[in-house]
Amino acid sequence: MTNTGFTAGIDVGGTKCLAVIIDPDNNIVAESRVPTPRGATALIDMVEAVAVELIELSGGLDGIGVGVPGQMDLSGRMAFAPNLDLGDLPIQQLLEDRLEVEIVIDNEANCAAAAELQLGVARGVSDAVLITLGTGFGNAIIVNGDVSRGAFGMAGELGHTVVNPSGPECGCGNRGCLECYASGSGLQWMAREAVERGETTRLLALAGGDIENVRGEHVTRAARDGDKAAIGVIDRFSWWLALGLANAVAILDPEMVILGGGLVTDWDLFEGRVRSHYDKMVLAGPYRPPLRIEPVALGERAGALGAALSARVHKGFAN
Ligand SMILES: [Zn+2]
Repeated sequence: MTNTGFTAGIDVGGTKCLAVIIDPDNNIVAESRVPTPRGATALIDMVEAVAVELIELSGGLDGIGVGVPGQMDLSGRMAFAPNLDLGDLPIQQLLEDRLEVEIVIDNEANCAAAAELQLGVARGVSDAVLITLGTGFGNAIIVNGDVSRGAFGMAGELGHTVVNPSGPECGCGNRGCLECYASGSGLQWMAREAVERGETTRLLALAGGDIENVRGEHVTRAARDGDKAAIGVIDRFSWWLALGLANAVAILDPEMVILGGGLVTDWDLFEGRVRSHYDKMVLAGPYRPPLRIEPVALGERAGALGAALSARVHKGFAN
């Protein structure tokens, strides 16, 4: 066990893994990226290899925080991660058996929320909802100035609330979860549907003529080029996201919604549409302040940074 004031955070995303080392003043002093492998053993091997690299780079770490795209329980067991097709994985124990450093595990969106609370856009905020629009729909809930984990550690899964029981099958086993629509994979699915219906040739051309290659980035590019079908997909996506926001606001009444994830880069394409749909759906709309929506201040590193901060808090180095 060292006492250097340096900790590391490893943000295991659905497709890529981003790791950082922070110094005692919370500055990022090193970072590393690798793709996220499939399967439990490969995942643990990858996190171990990244952790060993970070320990060598830093010359000693006080702790390592790991953010995962799944539900953690309070004992460090990953209960369910549909986007990785994993469940019931005692990830903290498995890593502590291999590494001589304290390991703290949390949901990646919870990590991002912890970072935004301490260093970012949520400083001084009491109640907020954080949403990461990446491959999936990540979510964390901030209540009374802290990340709310629920009774069993598994709160904050707005993405898996069912919004259409006859909708497409979700990775979690249900049908028509919000994540099926309001996520990068949802955007891709809706775009492929539009191509299949023959509504757009521009989207197909951007994807090299292969419908299986149509991705979210093609939708935003085609929409910027004025492609009507792509704009229609953006509007449909925005309707579903607005529905999720209206539901979250009805339950949690947050001061702000913090948006992260890859889709935020193109938020200008979505914002007006999301707000317009949301205003028609939200409960007591005329009697509540306009929804404050802020992008994450810490960008794509929010999750890794939050994981590193969690490792420090856990060690008693909280600022
Ligand atoms: Zn689901």
